[in-house]
Amino acid sequence: MKKILILGGTTEARQLAEKLVEDFRVTLSLAGRTESPVAQGVPVRSGGFGGSEGLAAYLKETRTDLLIDATHPYAARISANAAQVARLTGVPILALRRPGWEPVDGDRWTHVDTTGDAVHALGSTPRRAFLALGRQEVAAFEAAPQHHYLVRSVDPVEPKLAVPDAAYLLARGPFREPDEHALLEEHRIDVVVSKNSGGEATYGKIAAARALGIEVVMVRRPNLPEVPSAETVEALAAMIDHGLDPVAERGV
Ligand code: NAP
Repeated sequence: MKKILILGGTTEARQLAEKLVEDFRVTLSLAGRTESPVAQGVPVRSGGFGGSEGLAAYLKETRTDLLIDATHPYAARISANAAQVARLTGVPILALRRPGWEPVDGDRWTHVDTTGDAVHALGSTPRRAFLALGRQEVAAFEAAPQHHYLVRSVDPVEPKLAVPDAAYLLARGPFREPDEHALLEEHRIDVVVSKNSGGEATYGKIAAARALGIEVVMVRRPNLPEVPSAETVEALAAMIDHGLDPVAERGV
């Protein structure tokens, strides 16, 4: 039975692992940041590999036949490492790349390249900002302490932001539009800061902001390496089922 390593940390990675485990020896890899990750239903390894060298050594030791990058679209470092290791070791790679959201009529998006740029985009006048970014990124907003922040994360933000006015919510998606609508109204939010994660699970806040006429400061996706990829779990599983040779596809 062929061995597949799935780099995960997303709902789709878990779904893919559960689908492939019937026909392959699947291991799902998590970064180990979340304190109580969702049960995955397949063998899991946790924690960084120690850069691309560590990942290459892991693939060799475990005799992995196929590497699948199913990480979040903003997890650029592990995706770069995976592509580089695949190139150097010859282990085939496929990526599961969820498409980003596109603005539609009524959306008021301000695009920025980085979280730091998002801080500047809030401007100097005090605003009430909803930060739905993940706890790693929110520290950047200490540079603009004049705003009120509502910070939502899966695990607590520690230490708390060094700003005078911030509230914290612990929650794990999916988040439905009606609930997001109520949340934005309850906290009198006038700007949402978001990553362009794509998918349904976190789109509720975008739809709710549109309905309420609220601006969204949208942090653009980082550049990711070019590897053969699919947009959905089904499409990626089909690529494997159809005996696609990812090495040939990669053109190396
Ligand atoms: P990153 O900046 O690309 O990765 C930083 C380091 O974390 C990597 O160099 C690697 O350490 C380790 N790592 C990341 N993903 C890993 C995985 N699946 N298995 C083993 N090690 C992993 O990634 P990040 O943005 O910190 O994201 C970390 C994890 O959270 C990812 O699994 C991602 O799918 C998930 N996630 C991220 C976001 C986001 O917005 N960034 C949102 C939701 C979920 P070594 O170099 O030591 O191997």
